[in-house]
Amino acid sequence: MELALRNPFHVAIVSGVPGVGKTTVLGHVERLAQQHYPGKLLILNFGDFMLKAAQKEGLAEHRDQLRHLKHRQQVALQEVAARLIVEHASKELGPGDALIVDTHTVVKTPMGYWPGLPGHVVSILKPDLIILIEASPEAIAARRMRDEDKTRIRRDLGGVEDIAELMKYARITALASAVPAGSSVVWVKNPEGRAEEAAKRIIELLKML
Ligand code: ATP
Ligand code: AMP
Ligand code: MG
Repeated sequence: MELALRNPFHVAIVSGVPGVGKTTVLGHVERLAQQHYPGKLLILNFGDFMLKAAQKEGLAEHRDQLRHLKHRQQVALQEVAARLIVEHASKELGPGDALIVDTHTVVKTPMGYWPGLPGHVVSILKPDLIILIEASPEAIAARRMRDEDKTRIRRDLGGVEDIAELMKYARITALASAVPAGSSVVWVKNPEGRAEEAAKRIIELLKML
């Protein structure tokens, strides 16, 4: 049966504040899924698609510049990314397969908190499930510190208190984004040194869709 609120393949959003470990956990999911997930699994990073579109327009060179662009530019890139992701997945996946989108339910920008999954994005992605990865604010601050100057520039996002505040908004926006497509929402812990446990939990959740 075709459902207006669903894509033919399953769609899971994996979200969480910057530095919590989404991309790391999803690396484990990709590896474990080969043996433990019955369908084909495609993991796409929303920021990669936004960045590629921004680079094409000469708007940004680096992923951590995206949240500093003008608001309307970010809105436009967000919609382009959602469309390209579903277009790409539709070519590769069918019923029984799953798409995971590595993204954010809330983005902290210089002009305020901004929903990562507003109506125009949810209506394209049509998620079955929204997973919110969490860890303690202290652990997240330490993880960000370890990355700084290597690959990522997250200094603008503040310290432990700012992380705790953003985590609160990440929960609220995850639930709000679940409403239009009737998605379920689950918190998954990513404890220090145990990213593989979080990955196993995500695979269990995918199998329930
Ligand atoms: P962003 O939203 O900015 O892309 P992210 O949520 O994808 O961030 P990662 O880049 O995956 O975060 O991880 C941030 C840092 O935390 C990396 O250095 C990674 O190795 C480390 N990390 C991730 N999970 C754990 C864990 N369970 N224990 C210890 N370190 C971790
Ligand atoms: P990430 O690598 O997950 O941090 O993504 C890079 C950047 O892409 C983020 O810092 C945001 O600026 C942007 N981004 C990712 N997902 C979204 C989204 N759903 N809505 C708006 N911006 C996003
Ligand atoms: Mg990431």
